[in-house]
Amino acid sequence: MSLLAQELAELIRQDGPLSVSRYMALCLGHPRHGYYMKQDPFGTDGDFTTAPEISQVFGELIGLWAASVWQAMGAPASIRLVELGPGRGTLMQDMLRAARALPGFREALSVHLVEMSPVLRERQKQALAASGAEPRWHDRIDQALEGPAIIVANEFLDALPLDQFVRTPEGWRERLVGLDDEGRLAFGLSGEPDSSLPLAAPAGSVLEQPAAASEVVATIARHVAAEGGAGLFIDYGPARSGFGDTLQALQRHVFVDVLAEPGDADLTVHVDFARMAQAGLSAGAAAHGPVTQRDFLLALGLQQRFEALSRRATPAQAESLAGGAQRLIETGSTAMGELFKVLAVADRNLPLLPGFDLHRLPEQG
Ligand code: SAH
Repeated sequence: MSLLAQELAELIRQDGPLSVSRYMALCLGHPRHGYYMKQDPFGTDGDFTTAPEISQVFGELIGLWAASVWQAMGAPASIRLVELGPGRGTLMQDMLRAARALPGFREALSVHLVEMSPVLRERQKQALAASGAEPRWHDRIDQALEGPAIIVANEFLDALPLDQFVRTPEGWRERLVGLDDEGRLAFGLSGEPDSSLPLAAPAGSVLEQPAAASEVVATIARHVAAEGGAGLFIDYGPARSGFGDTLQALQRHVFVDVLAEPGDADLTVHVDFARMAQAGLSAGAAAHGPVTQRDFLLALGLQQRFEALSRRATPAQAESLAGGAQRLIETGSTAMGELFKVLAVADRNLPLLPGFDLHRLPEQG
């Protein structure tokens, strides 16, 4: 049993079963044993690989996206470029390099990073050392937001804890993490049904309540509605809401039991993009998208960017560039181009943002 598993078992013996959100939050963020707190999980040697680690084109296109949002805002003299959960710092590094194409933007921006992991903060510091950007780190999002801002979050919302409810003949009962007869972590259900969930559904249906992710999107939407700017969220998950248990654990690129390796496997959920868009609209911003990552990157000029880079590359480099670019836009229900969605919440005074050209949701009110 891992140290965290022992600690969780002790906690459950004392206080009773944990909500799924509490379990997730402890597995990822426990100060000593939390998954993100003690290691760098990325890359082929790690547990998973993200889009910025696959191809530099990803971050470069998002850097150009940010630059054109800044222009659409009327090129304010000072703007915060905020990233949530920057991982190894690769996305920001590539964004800043691409942003050099627009000197005014580079001069106007200050870089703010929201990161809970000390290990990853150190990685980010190294990655951005040569950029001249002098980033500032924050523990919480509200500390990072001030004045006009462009906020970017790739694979961040999927790491935010959510609660789960299971439909039983008596109503919705909360899914909890307790202990089985042998003292091992096991799922169970709350005794009392939760009467605040009015939704009807067939018995056995699982309903997820992503309160933390909705709150992040709402906070950013409120901020850009009041101060100007836009927030961009890229993650895996459906464009439409549905039922189902999406909690998953990944270790060395293989799915494992979500209760088997607390603190030693990455624990994530799929992001409900319809709900995130709704959270943005309710907070007073416009929602652009969701669109698939494929549509978004192609609309931003992935093909042209890849061709320009290939012209300056050796044949071996060109081949690897082609492989990376292709992986970002690959179709298929579990492939990046289709499983991943992109949503922006933006100041309503901004025109349709690049990448979303055919997909704007009607504004409310
Ligand atoms: N955006 C990066 C990394 C994604 S992994 C990429 O695309 O490669 C998730 C990132 O979010 C990690 O940097 C992790 O440490 C950070 N993170 C997760 N939950 C967080 C929280 N509640 N507050 C701050 N950072 C968090």
